Amino acid sequence: MNEKDKPTVLLEFYLKKLRLPTMLREYAPLAVVCREDRSDFPTYLLRLVERELLDREKRASERRIKEAAFPVVKTIDTFDFKSQPSINEQLVRELLRGEYVDKKENVLLIGNSGTGKTHLACALAFAACAIGKNVRFYTVNGLVTELLESRDEKRLQRLQKQLQRLHLLVLDELGYVPFSKTGAELLFEVISRAYEHQSLMVTSNLPFEEWNEVFGSERLTGALLDRITHRCHIIEANGNSYRLSHAKKQSRQKRSQTDIVNTVTE
Ligand code: ADP
Ligand code: MG
Repeated sequence: MNEKDKPTVLLEFYLKKLRLPTMLREYAPLAVVCREDRSDFPTYLLRLVERELLDREKRASERRIKEAAFPVVKTIDTFDFKSQPSINEQLVRELLRGEYVDKKENVLLIGNSGTGKTHLACALAFAACAIGKNVRFYTVNGLVTELLESRDEKRLQRLQKQLQRLHLLVLDELGYVPFSKTGAELLFEVISRAYEHQSLMVTSNLPFEEWNEVFGSERLTGALLDRITHRCHIIEANGNSYRLSHAKKQSRQKRSQTDIVNTVTE
């Protein structure tokens, strides 16, 4: 090995060992730029370290988004508040900042089917990922099935520990299918453990009075509602289904286009 090459070979070895991949990739090209800029050594080092830090944050955020297992990635940019005036936009915007997660407060999204509850839950949870929170998205039935399976396979404790490590647990679509007694109890345990330790975000098409029907027990439902609704932000969506109004609008547009064509060809 040429004596001149020795420091860079060693440097690259150390950067790899210290797990600094961005610095490894950037140290040489950035040195050229800094030489041209006549930047001093601390400035060069600062810029190099900044790049490593930014890349590391980006990788961590990507990892958190992957681990959150979103059904689809929806963000707030594509949400049209005008078409759903019943939704409190100011509250949603405040929740996007994620302080509720630090305070371990819950979010409930209640309303008819198709009013954007899942979209908003994804957008809020996505925003939480972006500010460094560990998030996991489940449909309620998906989680209940996983809890039941893991209990049968004697790995319930491991799953419970995984869930407890989260800052925010999203439970989408409460109310579509009622649970078995065991399923309801296992879900109740997750919600109980989360109380004042983690944030829950629950979406449901059922008003509170009807939650009994899903959990099958008035006592359990009462205790559960008590825990979820204590320190909780409620977003209500009472409008029409976005899909339905969208489809109607499109078919109206199509019809009027056909009318134009017909008038022109007549
Ligand atoms: P819900 O969970 O309340 O049944 P979804 O969030 O699944 O409703 O919404 C159904 C579809 O309509 C999704 O594709 C969603 O992105 C879209 N959607 C609903 N409301 C809006 C809105 N206000 N702006 C943009 N897209 C919307
Ligand atoms: Mg939904």
